[in-house]
Amino acid sequence: MAKDMNRREVLGAAATVAAASAIGTSTAVAAGRGQAPAVMSSYKPLVVGAHNGNRLTNDDGETGVAIAYRMITAGDDVLDATIACNNLPEISEEDTSVGYGGLPDANGDVTLDACCMHGPLKRAGGVAYIQGVRMPSLVAKDVMMKTNHHLLAGQGATDFARENGHRVEGDLNSERSFKRYLEWKKRVEEEGDNRTFAELDLDFIEKKGFDVAYQMAEEGRIDIEHIHGTINTNAINHKGEICGNTTTSGRSFKVPGRVGDSPILGAGLYVDNDVGAAGSTGLGEMNLYHLCSFLIVEKMRDGMHPKDAGMYALERVRDFCMGNERYMNEKGEIRFNLQFYVLDKQSRYAGVAMRGGEGRFFAVCDDNGPRHELMDSIYMNE
Ligand code: ASP
Repeated sequence: MAKDMNRREVLGAAATVAAASAIGTSTAVAAGRGQAPAVMSSYKPLVVGAHNGNRLTNDDGETGVAIAYRMITAGDDVLDATIACNNLPEISEEDTSVGYGGLPDANGDVTLDACCMHGPLKRAGGVAYIQGVRMPSLVAKDVMMKTNHHLLAGQGATDFARENGHRVEGDLNSERSFKRYLEWKKRVEEEGDNRTFAELDLDFIEKKGFDVAYQMAEEGRIDIEHIHGTINTNAINHKGEICGNTTTSGRSFKVPGRVGDSPILGAGLYVDNDVGAAGSTGLGEMNLYHLCSFLIVEKMRDGMHPKDAGMYALERVRDFCMGNERYMNEKGEIRFNLQFYVLDKQSRYAGVAMRGGEGRFFAVCDDNGPRHELMDSIYMNE
């Protein structure tokens, strides 16, 4: 019941917006009787983000990117639109990579990170290691709007959320996420010569846990995209206003206390209203070493196309990891995934991945409607 109410809270807001008429074209025009249309803007509205932005639907059958596109073409704030997109997987137990039902840490606790950046306002907000709040992206926005800080973490973030009207629950595991956790824990214990989980040291859990999670993904027990899983969504409206939002339950079965790239400006997300936006999903540690979202935006500032800028960042990460067995597969390729979702001020866009291939998509919505497009990548999965 509580779950349904939460869903209605979000979808009700989205439905209200549906009542407003959408502009729906890339160029907004206004014309009085007998007057030539006045061109208001030449920016093409566009939403680009992770694949899970075009997977779940609201009661009207709209996916997240479709909701965001409708909102930006109806004149809503671009950041609110990207957050509305990300709220869908945040509140759904079907998506085990974010919010409610996100895969927990090695102790079985769901801890969440989120970040948002508002291009025109030149402001950003984030939360890290927050617990009990299904939609941390909304808390990130409150941090941005109501404090002079960018990042609140841990209990302070949870207290801030409660004080600002966000519902705080005891446990965000769904039946599905906790079942996956118990399976993972059992396998790690087996790998540890049948010592109990409590007897295993965290270093062992972290190293074996990585392998076991990949093994479970190969067997189809975890969505490969959700070993690391996150949603990032970025958008530009007809006025050229650019915003982005990233939200995650972080790396699954992580060492308790771990925070990844998602809430860190320049890593999980970066927006410059004069240039464009980039956001990330995937192995956060490797993104953090290079602050790839910032790097990508800077490369676009120098004139690179979003795809080239994204591939440049991936090549930097690849070269950095080469030779480190922990990150390589038997073919000598990088085995982890890292993805970037990128758009520029000209509404050019890209989705790029370390490992691509069949089924590796990113989400897009523009005047051609919501869709998945294949990621460009350095390596192809068979
Ligand atoms: N990038 C996020 C993190 O490392 C989650 C992910 O997409 O794996 O926490």
